[in-house]
Amino acid sequence: MTRQFQLVRSLIRQEWSRCSISRWNRKFATLEQTVVEPSTGPDPSKLETKISNLPGPSEKMKNGEVRWGTTFTNHMFEAEWHLEEGWSTPRIVPRHTIELDPAASVLHYGLEVFEGLKAHRGTKDGKIRLFRPDKNIRRMAISCARLGLATFDQQMMLECLRRYVMIEKDWVPHGRGTALYLRPTCIAVDPKLGVARSKRNLFYIIASPVGHYFQGGSGGVNLLATTKYFRSFPGGIGFCKTGANYALGIIPSEEASRLGCQQVLWLSDAKNRYVTEAGVMNFFVLFKGAKRPELVTAPLDGTILDGVVRSSILELVRSWGTIDVSERKYSIDEVVQRISQGEVIEAFGSGTASIITPVTGIHYQDKMYSIVSDTEEKISPKLLKSMQDIFYGEVEDTFSWNVEVDTE
Ligand SMILES: *Cc1c(COP(=O)(O)O)cnc(C)c1O
Repeated sequence: MTRQFQLVRSLIRQEWSRCSISRWNRKFATLEQTVVEPSTGPDPSKLETKISNLPGPSEKMKNGEVRWGTTFTNHMFEAEWHLEEGWSTPRIVPRHTIELDPAASVLHYGLEVFEGLKAHRGTKDGKIRLFRPDKNIRRMAISCARLGLATFDQQMMLECLRRYVMIEKDWVPHGRGTALYLRPTCIAVDPKLGVARSKRNLFYIIASPVGHYFQGGSGGVNLLATTKYFRSFPGGIGFCKTGANYALGIIPSEEASRLGCQQVLWLSDAKNRYVTEAGVMNFFVLFKGAKRPELVTAPLDGTILDGVVRSSILELVRSWGTIDVSERKYSIDEVVQRISQGEVIEAFGSGTASIITPVTGIHYQDKMYSIVSDTEEKISPKLLKSMQDIFYGEVEDTFSWNVEVDTE
């Protein structure tokens, strides 16, 4: 590497960490103590690789005949962090089980953070592209900072992720609709029952191919809007991708299923009843407007997750210039009233797993409000197509969202 290149790289890096700190401060002013600290690892130039001797993916798997979440690739990325020693040498090694002390903090206090993102294989050029991995890595740094877990150099982490996907590239299935799902995870492993910031973390990445069949539930879901359970609150951890935000939804979603709903529509609190998220997805409603339709979603106030698909949808729809886009507070009462008046064109959830999930009805205060979508005015099919065209390299990536994996 030339000196000039190193200098430019370090300047970009400083700028990157500074901007994430200032944004953090602006949004969560009370959390100044938990800013994303600049960190110096894990260093991809020191990466060690040990190749597995297991067979690679089967032909079936390569063609996308695989069930997501139960089949995994042969390798994992891993690196340890220690409060005094910093980041260890990062490694890509054969996938293995993890041995933990029974007192490890992750097992008792939920000190863990994760991410979910996808690599896609271009349908025309066969190139492998990650979709906006910088957004996931930045979000992971923010989640880690909030939970007192290790932060990392975001550029370095992105490069480690890219190298990992390069090793596993045969596992990125062929065909539109398929992907390799990546799951970066960070856990606190100190064997210590005291409740305090953890001194030792393990960071790892595993991967699971996503087949054609995963567009599960694309027929749509019903949601239960409840005031019995709440997912988050101001000053909490609603903006973090952490296990606790998933654990608390399991029983409510079982209750939802008894009422013919697949997921919960989370409200802010019992009084204002602002709509926040649907299950583990961001949530959108397209209202009829006086002049043009209005696409509404909850604002990033710290109680919802800053979804990558959410922000991509907002950017895409804003670029069309035909629909008003609002990140605003809106109540469940406004939604059901406007469903009754025929003013809701459609509603959908968004997230990396299924991209866009149409919502067919909302159960609220003992009544089911069905959303009957007029196919003409719906935007979700067009949105899904636009996103997939970008994922699979079928159109020019005008937003520069993709990061190519196999450039050399
Ligand atoms: C992961 C997640 C989302 C979706 O985020 P994407 O980055 O779009 O995948 C939305 N809400 C919650 C609670 C999540 O955990």
